[in-house]
Amino acid sequence: MCKCENRKIKAVFFDQDGVLFNSMPFHAKSWELAMTENGMPFSAEQTYRNEGRTGASVIQENYRAIYGVDAPQEVIEAVYSAKSDHFNRLTGGKLPDLIPGVRDLLTFLHQHGIQCWVVTGSGQRSLLNNLCTTFEGIIKPDHIISAFDVQHGKPHPEPYLKAWERSGFRKEECMVVENAPLGTRAGKAAGLFVAAVNTGPLPDSDLTAEGADRVFPSMHALLEWLQQN
Ligand code: MG
Repeated sequence: MCKCENRKIKAVFFDQDGVLFNSMPFHAKSWELAMTENGMPFSAEQTYRNEGRTGASVIQENYRAIYGVDAPQEVIEAVYSAKSDHFNRLTGGKLPDLIPGVRDLLTFLHQHGIQCWVVTGSGQRSLLNNLCTTFEGIIKPDHIISAFDVQHGKPHPEPYLKAWERSGFRKEECMVVENAPLGTRAGKAAGLFVAAVNTGPLPDSDLTAEGADRVFPSMHALLEWLQQN
């Protein structure tokens, strides 16, 4: 008997970056380069604080903060294209490493008949295309909600609500796994239980402040918690 059976969990909605893949350091560097090249200063910490937003929204927010007006569409497209190019160059076109312990966690859930979904603001096709091969038999193509499926990115609840609706389960049968403050906010706004795993440089209090139900220091700690009676 594991905690997920006690809670009658039937689906876990995983965020992608910083939860499945250790991709955030690459995103932080890519954003810093792409924004700076386009005349908009942007720090690594800003990447972590904005994590979860769609790329267009990150650019729009930074542009507004600097210029006080909305970014023209061509600026959004140019910066996002540059960001994707930097990301692909920095990763060498390869998938970033998995977050330690995440494969054990997904395997455990799969073996207990619990669906594993991915709910991400990412529109990074190189990552999305590889999810089903990296987690073969565990993550199914129709169990992925990405930037291409929603009008509003996180912190809006739409991405998690879409996963919940598509799953057909009750809210108490679903759980979110997030690493980011805005992703946690989205999961809570969708009315779901959020287990936050702090894999980045921000303090745990940033996740608690957004309403995370539990904060774990690692995937191993989350797995251990799920395995407890
Ligand atoms: Mg994340």
